[in-house]
Amino acid sequence: MIGLVKKKFYITTPIYYVNAEPHLGHAYTTIAADAIARWHKLKGEDVFFLTGTDEHGEKIEQAAQAAGKTPKRFCDEIAKNFKGAWKALNISYDNFIRTTDVNHVKAVEKTLKMLHGSGYIYKGKYEGMYCVGCERYRTESELVDGKCPDHLKKPEVVSEESYFFSLSKFHNILYQKIKHGDIEIKPDSRRNEILSFLENNKLEDISISREKVKWGIKIPWDDSHTTYVWVDAFLNYITGIGWPNKRFEEYWPADLHLIGKDILRVHATIWPAQLLALGLKAPKKFFAHGYFTIDGQKMSKTLGNVVDPVKLAKEYSSDAVRYYLLREFPFGEDGNFSEREFILKINGELVADLGNLIYRVLTLAEKFKGNIEGQPELDKHLHLDELEHYMENLELHKAIETIWEFVRATNKYINIKEAWKLKDKELSQVIYNLLEACRIISILVSPFMPDTSEKINKQLGVKAGGLKDCKFGEFTGKIKRGGYLFEKVEV
Ligand SMILES: [Zn+2]
Repeated sequence: MIGLVKKKFYITTPIYYVNAEPHLGHAYTTIAADAIARWHKLKGEDVFFLTGTDEHGEKIEQAAQAAGKTPKRFCDEIAKNFKGAWKALNISYDNFIRTTDVNHVKAVEKTLKMLHGSGYIYKGKYEGMYCVGCERYRTESELVDGKCPDHLKKPEVVSEESYFFSLSKFHNILYQKIKHGDIEIKPDSRRNEILSFLENNKLEDISISREKVKWGIKIPWDDSHTTYVWVDAFLNYITGIGWPNKRFEEYWPADLHLIGKDILRVHATIWPAQLLALGLKAPKKFFAHGYFTIDGQKMSKTLGNVVDPVKLAKEYSSDAVRYYLLREFPFGEDGNFSEREFILKINGELVADLGNLIYRVLTLAEKFKGNIEGQPELDKHLHLDELEHYMENLELHKAIETIWEFVRATNKYINIKEAWKLKDKELSQVIYNLLEACRIISILVSPFMPDTSEKINKQLGVKAGGLKDCKFGEFTGKIKRGGYLFEKVEV
């Protein structure tokens, strides 16, 4: 039979550095990736969704020491907290990779040997301004008043022997690939930033090992060095799907690396260069999203305004958190998180629009004793093409708005038809349209609010559907009205 081979879709989040507990910033990227992964599953694709933790380096060594723990134990605990957070937020990842996983470590060693063997790694001397906070050397031009702008500390001048990766050899090919869209970068403004960076700067070889750092993967031919982040963390994107085992080809190249905007440049240069040096394909697409402030201020430990996503999910439900973060501001741009706005969204859109709709429809339908049948009328308000377009473009907020237009049109339909005054065939016609609309809404909201979708399906007595089921057909559910989907929150 032809046409049964499913299209694959491989999506990743960055792996999160375990020097901090999971916060709302991590949650934002991961929830977005989860919604996109679930959307592709709705389309019937073979989806692989990878997330995980980045666990090596000086900063972890230091943090573990400060906590009176071994680095491994320290990492185990934080990795566990990340997994717990993703469980609380209903994240449907297929693999959670840790850079301390044995398979990953072995693959990194193999990579180092391969790159060394093919002449892309050489020994040199590195001297630079090293910021411990950033865990990297910072260039003169990055410093403000001689201090690291992120940590407000003067970096230490450090000189050490180091192995280097010949990144400079890949300057031209990377430029061409990005320019011609072989490596796609979105949004366009970010792509232009990278292109103009490559036009105005020459990529330099990068130092990939450290003599001083013990908590890392040893350079296989020289155990006085450990490998630095570049030939460790990035590798997760292929080791997480099995590389160097051939089966990684089932999903590689990645269809989408979702990242925060501050790590785009290293992702778009160092990572594809390594892949090309290994004779592997570059990823298809990077999408760099923005960040949000908390009530107008940058989220920081010092300000004490770090928002714990697990606490938020416990208080308001994970679906409400997922909905708000993806709904509130354009994906790709910066935005602001405010608990007040969050509550207003819950009361306005989740309680009054969606929750109320399901309750009204189920109340009408449960009272009605006749056969539920009719002709589609509400289908003209369902704009699936538009929704698909927005999802493909990762305009998640617009995709949600498109679904919400349908939710509102369905609510309005009850009023226009004055459903409460109707009976028999006329009433059956209206209930038919309402139930089919609710069934379709449940499918469409499922990538964003999986729990809510499940609750709606249960009340309608229908199975979870896919995108192909989003058309008006025969309603075959067995209705059982439940409580309200969402509860109003006091401001
Ligand atoms: Zn710094």
